[in-house]
Amino acid sequence: MLAIWKWYRGKSFILKITVGFILGIIIGIIFGESAQVLSPFGELFLKLLKMIVVPLIFLTLIVSVNNSSPKELGRIGGKIFPYYIISTGIAVGIGLIIAKLINPGLGLQMPKNTNIDVPEAPSIIDILLQIVPTNIIDSMAKGEILSIVFVALIIGFAISFIRHSTESQMTEWGNLLLKLAEAGSEVTFRILNGILQYAPIGVLGITATSIGNQGMGTLQSLAKYVGASYVGVAIQMLIVFPLILLLFKVPVIKFFLNTREAIMTAFVTCSSLGTLPVTIKSALKAGISDRVANFTLPIGATVNMNGSAIHFGVGVVFAAEIVGYDLSIGAIIGIILTGTLAAVGTAGVPGAGLIGMSIVFTQAGLPIEIVGLTAGVNVITDMVFTMCNVTGDIVGAAIVDKSEQKSESVQRDEGTGSVSQI
Ligand code: ASP
Repeated sequence: MLAIWKWYRGKSFILKITVGFILGIIIGIIFGESAQVLSPFGELFLKLLKMIVVPLIFLTLIVSVNNSSPKELGRIGGKIFPYYIISTGIAVGIGLIIAKLINPGLGLQMPKNTNIDVPEAPSIIDILLQIVPTNIIDSMAKGEILSIVFVALIIGFAISFIRHSTESQMTEWGNLLLKLAEAGSEVTFRILNGILQYAPIGVLGITATSIGNQGMGTLQSLAKYVGASYVGVAIQMLIVFPLILLLFKVPVIKFFLNTREAIMTAFVTCSSLGTLPVTIKSALKAGISDRVANFTLPIGATVNMNGSAIHFGVGVVFAAEIVGYDLSIGAIIGIILTGTLAAVGTAGVPGAGLIGMSIVFTQAGLPIEIVGLTAGVNVITDMVFTMCNVTGDIVGAAIVDKSEQKSESVQRDEGTGSVSQI
């Protein structure tokens, strides 16, 4: 038994997870809906990831705030947010263009009796106010990541403040609290490593169940829609992201090799949030500093959704073609704007994109019943959208880290310059 465990541990994560994925597909195809018996294995994996996400974000953020100055954090935020908005806008545009070329909705009928609840789109002010929790324990229990990020940042700053106090008692307490957070964060990473040993079995369970449940019939009728979604994601992943990385002189192949664990985990879990622990781990492996990774990735997992943005672009053209609605330039610009905002508001959990899509459809005047039509293949499209969401988060962290290194070296050069001038 011990020998099997040792052998298993010695194999690479990516190999194990790929084997789990392929076996899952085979089992799903052979056993169809009966593959459902394996769903607890997948559910266990997702639960374990969710279990670790809140302490991980909380502790790593407290540590990362203490590793940088407020000025540095402000600078990092000022770089990452424009990246999120621009890359998301581009992604909506790609979704629209690809769908216009593939025409996924031509020849399809309006679905009957499909109901989907469209939540009211909250205003920007409401979204911002929601970030501040009235009860942090409640936010933690509900997994409201932005609120947790907010509180962790405040606590981190307060600890940093008392660490630099002139009173020795305060400094002592501050250092003690920071040490506790560092130790806690180390423990969560250890637990994560254990969870990842189980990942291949979880992946097998998730894949077998989704493939088994997904009748081939739905897939065939919506094949063009699925195809357009995959092509859109391929363009973002293989052209847009590499170009952004090249622009910032980040080696592309090495980047993808180092981050493939996160990319693969996102693909099978369909949850950016669930993948977050692996995303942080992969980003560190790719050489991104923990200061930038720990600060930007929890935020990215909740607000940066490039894949979901492609989803909205493709979905709008799909619906417009079904109802024979011609999209004007003005409508397209409006869709890019609402699509970008809806992507920011989309939660990093499986299926969340359907809600975002209902919001975009409502704004564009398209029938939301069509969202219900695409829900049948959402498991298959959500996989690639989430993969693209997570990759976009790490690309953002990588380029910000690169530019941080640059400004640090400029500062160093300026420092030496002034010394030599003296
Ligand atoms: N499942 C996606 C994610 O977690 C969100 C979506 O459904 O678009 O990133």
